[in-house]
Amino acid sequence: MKIAVVGTGYVGLVTGTCLAETGNDVSCVDINEEKVDKMNRGQMPIYEPGLEILFYRNIAQKRLDFTTNLAEAIKDAKIIFLALPTPPGGDGSADLSYVLGAAKDIAGLITDYKVVVTKSTVPVGTADKVKAVFREHTNVEVDVVSNPEFLREGVAVEDFMKPDRVVVGTQSERARKLMDELYAPYVRSGNPIIFMDERSSELTKYAANSFLATKITFMNEIANMCELVGADVDMVRRGIGADARIGKRFLFPGVGYGGSCFPKDVQALAKSASEVNYDFSILNSVMAVNEKQKTVIVEKMRKYYKGDLKGKKFALWGLAFKPETDDIREAPSLYIIDALLKEGAEIVAYDPEAIENVKKLKGDTIAYASDPYEALEGADALIIVTEWSLFRTPDFERIESAMKAKVIFDGRNLYDLHRMIDCGFYYNSIGRQTIG
Ligand code: NAD
Repeated sequence: MKIAVVGTGYVGLVTGTCLAETGNDVSCVDINEEKVDKMNRGQMPIYEPGLEILFYRNIAQKRLDFTTNLAEAIKDAKIIFLALPTPPGGDGSADLSYVLGAAKDIAGLITDYKVVVTKSTVPVGTADKVKAVFREHTNVEVDVVSNPEFLREGVAVEDFMKPDRVVVGTQSERARKLMDELYAPYVRSGNPIIFMDERSSELTKYAANSFLATKITFMNEIANMCELVGADVDMVRRGIGADARIGKRFLFPGVGYGGSCFPKDVQALAKSASEVNYDFSILNSVMAVNEKQKTVIVEKMRKYYKGDLKGKKFALWGLAFKPETDDIREAPSLYIIDALLKEGAEIVAYDPEAIENVKKLKGDTIAYASDPYEALEGADALIIVTEWSLFRTPDFERIESAMKAKVIFDGRNLYDLHRMIDCGFYYNSIGRQTIG
């Protein structure tokens, strides 16, 4: 099938590449010329494990191409995916200008039936707004479909190729058949394509992300409580996770959720609720708790250093909002960096993939190391913010000899408490006993 994908970010590039992988002919279009040039030179614009090999293969086999020319990309396409940003507007609601703007541009160019699929995360009622744009600007028949994306950065290829489920919101039989045909290769193991109306589909995405953000936030509160009553959150996590109704996943406490989705989606759902005079109070609490949790490590440090962080040198491991991505949007590391700089501390950061992105934001207000141990040279403490695998079993002797003091603040609970006692470190983690 000939497909166009508008927007080649984390979602668009994965969608386009994975759709090409099953034999479709995919044209990806983006307004960012530099990015398109880069992809046309065969370079990946993002770090996403497993994507590179599919990207090269499908370009080489001429099923995947990139352009800045929308008309060219959509010319023969049966289905046009919109994978455009929906950032928070000033009032917290999702900014639909990219999606509605692209719909208007597409309406001005099409001459035959198209299925236009919104992959972006958009509030309930957006499909109606997109339909209205087409009605206003073209007489050509268009079906507007909601097809929210559930992929996770870091495992996006696997999530796209073998999704737990595909959600499709449409009431058009013609669009439904095309979507069914397109997704059939991805659900061969029996996972469902769940067809529903557009509004339910749009809300499903917000419900999923808000539920997950709530689950993390709940565990962060349990962790904070554990510290106050002398319980161990790891034990509590295992104890509740064994209950199938709760499940083992997404129960790890930390330094708050970040990323390009949870913060903006929770905010947007709360805003959508308020627009229909519904006080979605649990979401307001989730946002408030998460805000505090982002700097819980800094609070711990203030206590340890009796309020005086000035001139202290800290090694920071992990900048990306989670492992296996270079994405730093709303990353907790950025909040921790800002708070520590404000107190007059010095920071040397290391991350396997995200340094270049942080440099663009923070410049030389912090220093960057080329490996984890270099960051530790002369450090007063190590702060762990992202749970990259390579931080899990470090050489503690090397850590000790590089650092000025044997102090670790761990926002991801990477190390065993007994091990930390044996190594003689001061070790402060989340929801567990402080060692030393
Ligand atoms: P992104 O910012 O990484 O990418 C968006 C791309 O769209 C950029 O390359 C930008 O240059 C391009 N663009 C902007 N305006 C354009 C236009 N008029 N024409 C063509 N291209 C244009 O965004 P993303 O992370 O891929 O997210 C896209 C949508 O998917 C958002 O609604 C997001 O909430 C949702 N989503 C994201 C994820 C994720 O993990 N990143 C997961 C599920 C859903």
